[in-house]
Amino acid sequence: MSTPYRLPQGRTPRPALWTDIPDEQWDDWRWQLSHRLNTAEDLAKIIQLTEEELEGLNAPNKFRVDITPYFASLIDPDDPDCPVRLQVVPRGRELKAFESMMEDSLAEDAHSPVPGLVHRYPDRVLMLVTTQCASYCRYCTRSRIVGDPHAMFNRRHHDMQIEYLRRTPEVRDVLLSGGDPLTLPQKILEDLLRRLRDIPHIEIIRIGSRVPVFLPQRITDELVEMLRQFHPLWMNIHVNHPKEITPELARACARLADAGIPIGNQSVLLAGVNDHPDTIKRLCHELVRIRVKPYYLYQCDLVEGSGHFRTTIAAGLEIMEALRGHTSGYAIPTYVVDLPGGGGKVPVLPNYLISQSPGRVVFRNFEGYITTYTEPTDYRRPQRTKWTPEPRAGRRLTGVAGLLAGEAMTIEPDGWRAHHHLPPAESNGQFGPHNNGTESIPLDALLDRRDVQIAGAGDEPSWAKVN
Ligand code: SF4
Repeated sequence: MSTPYRLPQGRTPRPALWTDIPDEQWDDWRWQLSHRLNTAEDLAKIIQLTEEELEGLNAPNKFRVDITPYFASLIDPDDPDCPVRLQVVPRGRELKAFESMMEDSLAEDAHSPVPGLVHRYPDRVLMLVTTQCASYCRYCTRSRIVGDPHAMFNRRHHDMQIEYLRRTPEVRDVLLSGGDPLTLPQKILEDLLRRLRDIPHIEIIRIGSRVPVFLPQRITDELVEMLRQFHPLWMNIHVNHPKEITPELARACARLADAGIPIGNQSVLLAGVNDHPDTIKRLCHELVRIRVKPYYLYQCDLVEGSGHFRTTIAAGLEIMEALRGHTSGYAIPTYVVDLPGGGGKVPVLPNYLISQSPGRVVFRNFEGYITTYTEPTDYRRPQRTKWTPEPRAGRRLTGVAGLLAGEAMTIEPDGWRAHHHLPPAESNGQFGPHNNGTESIPLDALLDRRDVQIAGAGDEPSWAKVN
């Protein structure tokens, strides 16, 4: 007979400051929120603060500090480099500027047709519904608005976001984020979910939340019963280090998973916190044990305050090299760089395809074993495998996928065509070697066109558009 899955029992030990708090109070998420630590005096009651932490805590205009007692109880009071502590207790170094630092490194505001609705990819949107979180991460990508009590999203903003979605049929997937949507009053969250579900073309709703990690007490039966009405509903949580995987988090995730909500995890690669292959591997194994799929490992963004958390891309690649083949695929996240300037996420992985000839592809595996895959010589994709999409606006492919599908021949930086004295491209899907097939150009004229001026440094074209 198989052994049923047993939920982790027990509790995270509390610092002396809170040992007298009755369990009922400790388990009340409202008590946790109203007893958050946010000053040097508060924190000094549970940890010995360093000079640098005092500098960070006492700095004017710093990113908001708030730490739930539960999450604070995971901090090692005797270790200034405790990976939990580094994530939530400010240090002086977060005030230092660094090269390429930006306020809005993902250009979210520039991609927002209405406040708080980031429409960066063709078929999905990011919907920022609040600026508030249960605790605040020192490396937050959205620190420009998150935590600011004056930058709240209100009913009027939500109405504009919903109206935009109603009128935009190409959107099939909405990710609620913020801030943290699970800090919203339950009625407001339920109302938003209901209004989204009423839009026929919205297929998937996702919630991005660190509440299960900072405040697992909030994942009550009542909340989960409300959420399960809005399936298909997915959730991504945010755990960075194995220390954050506690019996409380395991029980919160079990509640969500038992309600049919698939859970993924997004970690940020943070120097001093989790930038070692063994730490990430341990984290991923622990996540899978609590029914959470490691989903993304993010390269730290170029955002204010995060300079000291940044690693090289090589550090991320080394971690990925230590995962693929060394553990099950379910335990391997996709390592991504969210491109500065709003280019979106690109996956980065070690190179397993090492060479190629017509008909043969040479691979290496995680052990260094090298072998050849022989390709079929007569492959043609059968027409019947094409799925006919429903008529939605914005179905045209862009990027390299558009080139492969024959929808365009080139991707050109802005101004490239004028600079090279070429006629404007036409997006008619017909193209020839130099002119989109719209005219025939004599050889002399082509040679003339090669006689172009070299742009000075100040004339560099800006990136990029698909013709
Ligand atoms: S939980 Fe997310 S939105 Fe909130 S501070 Fe952390 S990273 Fe930023």
